[in-house]
Amino acid sequence: MKPAVFDYSAPESIGEALDLLAEHGSGAKVLAGGQSLVPMLNFRLARPAHLIDVNGVGSLSYISANGSLRIGAMTRLTAVGESGAVAGAHPVIPAAVAEIGHRAIRNRGTIGGSVAHNDPAAELPAVLMALDAEVTARSTDGERVIGMQDLIEDRLFDTTLGDTELLTEIRIPAAAAGSTFGFREFARRHGDFALAGVAAVITTDGSTITHAALGAFGGTHATRLPTAEAALVGAETGDAAFAAAGAGAAADFPATSDVHGTAEYRSHLINVLTVRALNDASGQAGGGNG
Ligand SMILES: Cc1cc2nc3c(=O)[nH]c(=O)nc-3n(C[C@H](O)[C@H](O)[C@H](O)COP(=O)(O)OP(=O)(O)OC[C@H]3O[C@@H](n4cnc5c(N)ncnc54)[C@H](O)[C@@H]3O)c2cc1C
Repeated sequence: MKPAVFDYSAPESIGEALDLLAEHGSGAKVLAGGQSLVPMLNFRLARPAHLIDVNGVGSLSYISANGSLRIGAMTRLTAVGESGAVAGAHPVIPAAVAEIGHRAIRNRGTIGGSVAHNDPAAELPAVLMALDAEVTARSTDGERVIGMQDLIEDRLFDTTLGDTELLTEIRIPAAAAGSTFGFREFARRHGDFALAGVAAVITTDGSTITHAALGAFGGTHATRLPTAEAALVGAETGDAAFAAAGAGAAADFPATSDVHGTAEYRSHLINVLTVRALNDASGQAGGGNG
């Protein structure tokens, strides 16, 4: 199918993009990499009167690691996944990016688009939640900083961004010294959206876990896993704590049924994937997904 008719603008600066958003409001859609929006237009699941193509706004594409990590919204997923600065600051991010679709999709898709689209099966919203990331949103009225939880929690293909706001930057605080990560997902074929997945970041003092942050995807919405995190903090790394966290993760996870699997199956997956991710994080097992 072809998209419904729309007007098209291609601003070259953030200011021009914000003026267009202020002018067209809820009738407009920002076009980033187009990897989700263009199929939605073609299926007529989205019918914006106006497309604001921000691919010409070069100032939205950058990676800066100076204390916290700052990534411009239009930075392509391939650039994020291949950045030494990102891998050095938060290696869980490239581990997750490698599982997003196929290379052609990552070459066009952007980190801002992935966050703003907020597909419940997308990797990055859950990973960024676990990393306590924030985003910057700008409009002609000014700028605000929104925590990932406040941006996407309980939302499905939607965020708390206003109609006239442009997501401009993702900010990720520096990791605690010595923190380690695990990232596991299960998809039927490589490149498919995952049925379920989990990112785990833990910090230990000796063998005692002092901090644990887990983000899960593949349920009704991306979410942190607070029961699993509580089971880990203060516990010794090892099978007992990880089994308790796996059970907690399954209890926290907003599992859903569809043609690919039942809610029960997805809850089981989250339990198993959480244990594996924690084993990876604690160095008790090798990396890899599945
Ligand atoms: C075959 C296929 C497989 C895929 N597999 C995966 C996968 O496994 N995991 C995964 O996470 N994703 C997957 N994707 C989606 C892909 O990662 C998309 O790139 C991403 O979801 C959207 O990024 P985009 O830059 O293409 O955004 P677009 O498609 O351009 O936009 C998506 C939405 O976000 C809004 N938006 C974009 N940028 C901004 C901004 N700066 N400010 C405000 N709103 C904005 C748009 O208006 C639109 O509503 C897949 C896509 C395809 C086609």
